[in-house]
Amino acid sequence: MTKRVAIIGAGPSGLAQLRAFQSAFKQGAEPVELVCYEKQSDWGGQWNYTWHTGLDEHGEPVHSSMYRYLWSNGPKECLEFADYTFEEHFDKPIASYPPREVLWDYIKGRVEKADVRRYIRFNCPVRHVAFDETSKEFHVTIHDHDTDAVETATFDHVIVASGHFSTPNKPKFEGFENFNGRVLHAHDFRDAMEFHGKDLLLIGSSFSAEDIGSQCYKYGARSITTSYRTAPMGFDWPENWEEKPLLQRVSGNTAYFADGTSKRVDAIILCTGYLHHFPFLPDNLRLKTNNRLWPLGLYEGVVWEDNPQMFYLGMQDQWYTFNMFDAQAWFVRDVILGHIALPDQATMKRKSAEWRAREEALTDNESMVRFQGDYVHHLIKQTDYPSFDIESVNQIFLDWVQHKEDGIMTFRDRSYRSVMTGTQAPAHHTRWLDAMDDSLEAFLNAPERTPSRENAPKAQIRRKQSA
Ligand code: FAD
Ligand code: NAP
Repeated sequence: MTKRVAIIGAGPSGLAQLRAFQSAFKQGAEPVELVCYEKQSDWGGQWNYTWHTGLDEHGEPVHSSMYRYLWSNGPKECLEFADYTFEEHFDKPIASYPPREVLWDYIKGRVEKADVRRYIRFNCPVRHVAFDETSKEFHVTIHDHDTDAVETATFDHVIVASGHFSTPNKPKFEGFENFNGRVLHAHDFRDAMEFHGKDLLLIGSSFSAEDIGSQCYKYGARSITTSYRTAPMGFDWPENWEEKPLLQRVSGNTAYFADGTSKRVDAIILCTGYLHHFPFLPDNLRLKTNNRLWPLGLYEGVVWEDNPQMFYLGMQDQWYTFNMFDAQAWFVRDVILGHIALPDQATMKRKSAEWRAREEALTDNESMVRFQGDYVHHLIKQTDYPSFDIESVNQIFLDWVQHKEDGIMTFRDRSYRSVMTGTQAPAHHTRWLDAMDDSLEAFLNAPERTPSRENAPKAQIRRKQSA
């Protein structure tokens, strides 16, 4: 009987899964009945920007945490698909740090070429998944917003590709209730222009704090203060940006920090990360983890050890992204097609524990990058996904880390060589700090269009005196 496979989510991970199956079908693999349920009205996951915050037009929690003027925070050469290069898509070499719309276009190009949109049911959030121990089948219940009907369908396999950067982690701080300004989570941040001329406090010291702070700096915030729990980011920040230990409380508009200092601020943005949240899964099928490189319970990072008919994609913390999702999707496909055999549960758990022990011993960025690179390589060598030089990608990640140290406001002006094509990316026509228009047209075509916001200020890096 033809196997029935449900994929939950049409972001980069779910789309990688569709592309993996399509590639196998093209080579004559046995057919599989595929249905991909996507709660949004279009594909691309996080990259499908929305102005909505809170609930969407159907009353569903908004998925994307991306904001206007978001540019890739890492070189595109690290995430390039091995089976569909940037040069193939854009028909020319492009700069290394594209804005969101450009990456969304690239993601879409591959799946349009593969003609897999027909497998996706849009506006269909998955409400519940149950496993029937007798029939060994999953019952997947969805709400089709186009017809306003709730339906249940039966599958042999379920692949969860619903992402994990959408449900905000919201710690409480004393005095928020009475704060005389706006308190929001990074998930709800949309437009840096809102904070033009404001004194801004960001809690957290990871990518969101760094990038939202940088956006606000670029678009003219008066000052940025970032507050860390464990360690400061430690970059050579511009003069109007300071790092403080953890916020203790706020009173009126004043924020008080663990070192006894205080600062008057207009708005507070919680850049405190996200929760792995699967409201549609029962306990026995639900991954429970924090954001880390090796969540437990997933053999080879993807197979749900307690029920190997079920899989998860993209649940790890991410250095590698698109090509890691590909490596995972090709592996899952081959397990489902019977080309890769799974060991017994005890062996799966033992192997996962070995990866986890390795993960727990990681001490710095370099060891983390190499760990995830090893993982991607380990998966790719088991499938027919085009192999590529992981060590060269690791090296680009490490160069990127160094380039951020060298200039946190200028690292996006660098360019790198594609591992897939060997082509050196051209320098972008406009330095990132001056590139106010993040549209695809403005990025691809020099000279830059007149900024759409007449009043968008041109940022000058104002270095601290000591720098
Ligand atoms: P997602 O992109 O989150 O897609 C999941 C999909 O599942 C969504 O379409 C969602 O609507 C759907 N879904 C969720 N729940 C349901 C349900 N119940 N029923 C049906 N559908 C559902 N990565 C990079 O490589 N470079 C970057 O510069 C970068 N910037 C980022 C910036 C931000 C602010 C964030 C939050 C993430 C960023 N990332 C970046 C990481 C990003 O998460 C990955 O690039 C990628 O989008 C993950 O793909 P995914 O498919 O696993 O998850
Ligand atoms: P994250 O990497 O998980 O970091 C969460 C941060 O919140 C950490 O600094 C953590 O501090 C802090 N934190 C958590 N709980 C806290 C608490 N109770 N009190 C104080 N601090 C707390 O999450 P993220 O920064 O949102 O990044 C998520 C993903 O989005 C990443 O993959 C990133 O690449 C992506 N992203 C990309 C861009 C871009 O491309 N332009 C922009 C933004 C985000 P500790 O260190 O103490 O744990």
